[in-house]
Amino acid sequence: MIKILQKNKCCACQACANICPKHCISMQADSEGFLYPRVDKTICVNCNLCEKVCPILNKPQTFPVLQAYAAKHKNSEIKLKSSSGGIFTALAKVILKEGGIVFGAAFDKNWNVIHTYAENIEDLDKLRRSKYVQSDIGKTYQQAKIFLEKDRKVLFTGTPCQIAGLRNYLGKEYQNLLTAELFCHGVPSPAVWQKFLAENTQKQQITSIDFRYKRFAWDASFLNITYKDGSCLPSAPRFLFPLLNAKKGFLFRNFYHLYYGISNLYERPSCHECHFKGLDKMADFSIGDLWGVQQTYPALYDKQGISAIFLNTAKAKAIFNTLSLQTKSIDIQKITKYNPYVLTSVKPHPKRAEFFKRYKTENFNKLLKELLNIKSPVYECLIRLVIKIKRK
Ligand SMILES: Cc1cc2nc3c(=O)[nH]c(=O)nc-3n(C[C@H](O)[C@H](O)[C@H](O)COP(=O)(O)OP(=O)(O)OC[C@H]3O[C@@H](n4cnc5c(N)ncnc54)[C@H](O)[C@@H]3O)c2cc1C
Repeated sequence: MIKILQKNKCCACQACANICPKHCISMQADSEGFLYPRVDKTICVNCNLCEKVCPILNKPQTFPVLQAYAAKHKNSEIKLKSSSGGIFTALAKVILKEGGIVFGAAFDKNWNVIHTYAENIEDLDKLRRSKYVQSDIGKTYQQAKIFLEKDRKVLFTGTPCQIAGLRNYLGKEYQNLLTAELFCHGVPSPAVWQKFLAENTQKQQITSIDFRYKRFAWDASFLNITYKDGSCLPSAPRFLFPLLNAKKGFLFRNFYHLYYGISNLYERPSCHECHFKGLDKMADFSIGDLWGVQQTYPALYDKQGISAIFLNTAKAKAIFNTLSLQTKSIDIQKITKYNPYVLTSVKPHPKRAEFFKRYKTENFNKLLKELLNIKSPVYECLIRLVIKIKRK
């Protein structure tokens, strides 16, 4: 029976809850807002399937990276609608065209992030774009298996641990299954996300959320929230926007810290000791941003977005040339140099424990400002201007 003795040894893939023949494993949120399995011992028959499918206890067979590419979708509109270069959409469209199903992360009506699926192009948009919050897998492994057994093609996308959980749950390779894992920095807490929304937005009025709104450029994107009346958050005067550089982050720095979990204040404990780092991959494809492109391959820079993609299996190689992408073979080392979390786990922020001790009772923005030593936007604006002038 699955026992979580150390929280960093559970990634919440939910393979255990999906496989349990007695349905006696439920996922419960802890005080940090992360899900962990809880077994109803009165029903459990000690079959131990839950332990067998746990990808941390039993890591599935890995795939070495075979080839690496810079890639972007051929269609500008799709690039703008996607967080990176639109690779996910290119893959999804091939599967949907063949009558297949695409699994990925979407918002539910309360803006929680959950795994679900799309069966047609119109439905695909909900899965598009990165949501920087841990998604709840729910019973999607069971749903995927049903489609696979009916000989439908399935594309399953998610974090590497979610793909590892799926493969262990399925227990065998399916020719009609294609998997794509994201380069993953780590997943922030769903409870912190909801606290942020409750204190900073009129949640009931929200119609869309884009963690990486690319109004100016892919590498200067920011969290953008749109309301029913057409107004947006951040609500700063638009003339200020060109000054924004979300990468360094100043005006909306607290949004940025939240969306990328870049502060590492509120990521899942298992992300700090991730079992799925390195160049031995879980999925057919690995996809992420081609950070550092201006240093490594300046000619490939595209302000609408550019991705890095690894082909890890023969299946991936076979389908790659059929995708609606512009591609160029590139050096793996140049990708990982600017995307170090492909190889190593993020370190927790030294004030992580303090954050979780205080976050439920204190104001989110104030707490973040104090723990991360964030100065006022005006102050940060001035500092940046001074630095810019000095550089010139
Ligand atoms: C939590 C998280 C951390 C990431 N960390 C990095 C990183 O450190 N470096 C890097 O280069 N790239 C990272 N990425 C990946 C990157 O943000 C893009 O998702 C990726 O490049 C695909 O972009 P796209 O333009 O091809 O497709 P898009 O349409 O932008 O992406 C959609 C895909 O992302 C999946 N997805 C969205 N949110 C989640 C979620 N919460 N959990 C699981 N799957 C999700 C969807 O299911 C779909 O497959 C991360 C993504 C997430 C969600």
